[in-house]
Amino acid sequence: MPFSDILAQDHIIDHFKKAIKADQLSHAYIFTGQEGIGKTLFAKEFAKALNCKSDGNDSCNLCQNCIRIEKHNHPDIFWTEREEKAKFIKIENIRNLQNSVRLSPLESDFKIFIIKEADRMNEEASNCLLKTLEEPSPNTIIILITNSITSIKDTIRSRCQIIRFHPIPIHIIENQLKDKFDADNNKIRWISRFCNGSLGNALHLLSDNHYEINNEIVTRMTEPDMDNLVFAEEVIDSYLSAGDSLEEKRQILKSILHCILQLYRDLLIIKVMNVHDIQQKKLSLFNTDREDILQKHANYLTQEQIMYVIDEILESIQYIDFNLNINLLIENIITRITVLNSKARS
Ligand SMILES: [Zn+2]
Repeated sequence: MPFSDILAQDHIIDHFKKAIKADQLSHAYIFTGQEGIGKTLFAKEFAKALNCKSDGNDSCNLCQNCIRIEKHNHPDIFWTEREEKAKFIKIENIRNLQNSVRLSPLESDFKIFIIKEADRMNEEASNCLLKTLEEPSPNTIIILITNSITSIKDTIRSRCQIIRFHPIPIHIIENQLKDKFDADNNKIRWISRFCNGSLGNALHLLSDNHYEINNEIVTRMTEPDMDNLVFAEEVIDSYLSAGDSLEEKRQILKSILHCILQLYRDLLIIKVMNVHDIQQKKLSLFNTDREDILQKHANYLTQEQIMYVIDEILESIQYIDFNLNINLLIENIITRITVLNSKARS
């Protein structure tokens, strides 16, 4: 896979192609940006481009080096990551890295150390890495990958060149999904908007029933005689029960609240956009295939009421992580929304 196949990160590809050509690479980088936008993939492709046996500043994907890097079994490319269920990256892994950095590459021009979830290092591991960064070795590059650069120590940050990855535009994700998957167009359209610029997230949404759940929620929440307690019970029984741990239930609740949030965002768009902007409205809505229901529902609400619900939901999302009683939280938010709906209709 050449650099050009990496989606929507042209600013980074240009930067590295020039840096490779001019031999002006840093000894350490931080790749930062949200989950699922290609940071790890880019790290792998960068390792190939540097060690590829063909000429130029990109990879051929055919030589022994490219093939072995692709399979994660090249002796000069080291991957460090947190073990499943472990809270942090093991200190031994960073110590091993510290020792290996001093040795010359075995087979290639560069030794490359890639640390995934670099924000998941405890104090001891961070300090050990810091020492390594303070004494750079020739022909060695360390890449830290993170979704949250603020969680990385300042002292580490200041010794690395920071590379920011951008969210992938909606139309690019939509085209990718259409090209590669045989799924319903409305589903693809909704996912490419809901995934928040992350292809990883989009692929995950495509393989589960999130879109179908969203449709159920939209249908229920726009029903004229929706009983809030019955609906809250439904949410708890059919959706939240799928999570085993409190943490999983929190994640499910967050995505349900995001669905409700997008529903009210759509209602607001319908409310504020004038009728001449039909095309623009279609482009902006999350639930385009439900426009008729939304239009009807929006008639019952004022702009202020819609904004009030949006605020309520945003506040609830913020408190999910601190709230032990998830069921009560969902009951409260649904009650507040439905009370508003029934007032509006009466
Ligand atoms: Zn190659």
